[in-house]
Amino acid sequence: MDKIIDVKKILNQEIEKLKQRIENIKEKGIKPRFAVIIANKLESTKIYVRNKKKVATDMGIIMDEYILEENVDSKDVISLIKRLNEDDNIHGILLQLPLFNHLNENTLLEVISKDKDIDCFNPYNLGKVFIGDAKIYPCTPKGIMTILDSLGEDFTSKKAVVVGRSNIVGKPIASMLLKKNMTVTICHSKTKNLKEETQKADVLICACGIPNYITKEYIKDGAIVIDVGINRKDSKIVGDVDTEDCLEKVKYITKVPGGVGLMTVCSVMDNLCSLIEEKIK
Ligand code: NAD
Repeated sequence: MDKIIDVKKILNQEIEKLKQRIENIKEKGIKPRFAVIIANKLESTKIYVRNKKKVATDMGIIMDEYILEENVDSKDVISLIKRLNEDDNIHGILLQLPLFNHLNENTLLEVISKDKDIDCFNPYNLGKVFIGDAKIYPCTPKGIMTILDSLGEDFTSKKAVVVGRSNIVGKPIASMLLKKNMTVTICHSKTKNLKEETQKADVLICACGIPNYITKEYIKDGAIVIDVGINRKDSKIVGDVDTEDCLEKVKYITKVPGGVGLMTVCSVMDNLCSLIEEKIK
């Protein structure tokens, strides 16, 4: 196997599995459908949303878009989410982040029904992840776990180091690695001697958002390195890891672009299917 993990191949296998699950759902007379709420004017959001729509449509899932005006009132967003919560034809709701500055992310995420929370950002569903009893997972960490599982390694008792402690990547992936019986360390911007920590990692997850920050000095020989970063540098997209520099030392590594990012949208559809399957069980 190549040192650079073939994420595209893993993705294609996941898509095939998902298409089968969608067929099974449709056979029960349900048309999988979800809503995306957009409350920002960012170009990057337009690209992410377009990408989600394409993946959803290819899989036979309907995606509705709600594009909100800049002066939208928080109360109106809450009403919209509540209306979607009540709508039996909508199986998933996704609040595209970031939001306009005047809107409070945590307040709004909490309004999304736990049974329609396809991003898995609602505190209830995140809590389930942290106690190791989840049916759905935050999308990027879920993609990372699918990649790790595809390697056929036994991770029990191995050491994992996660660089980054965000609620959407660092904290949940740490919980998920813990569930794999790994010994997990979370590092962050206030960690002293980061190198000393990362050099102990059998599995190193890099999610700090600093272009090419992790070089070979940070890595143990034979480590598996997962680069979550998506950063713009000199008009190119680069990860948090200097892939070329680290290649000689790693056992496996993901690249950017063409790595973890590919899996994230697929995880949205996976969560949607899981929530529908849970409902019809
Ligand atoms: P964030 O900005 O919320 O968090 C960054 C984390 O890195 C923080 O916890 C911070 O403490 C830590 N950090 C910052 N500087 C550090 C340093 N010098 N040493 C150690 N830790 C440090 O970021 P996020 O939302 O978790 O995203 C992280 C990266 O992953 C970004 O590049 C983002 O674009 C990318 N991302 C990719 C996907 C995907 O689908 N592949 C999804 C989400 C985020």
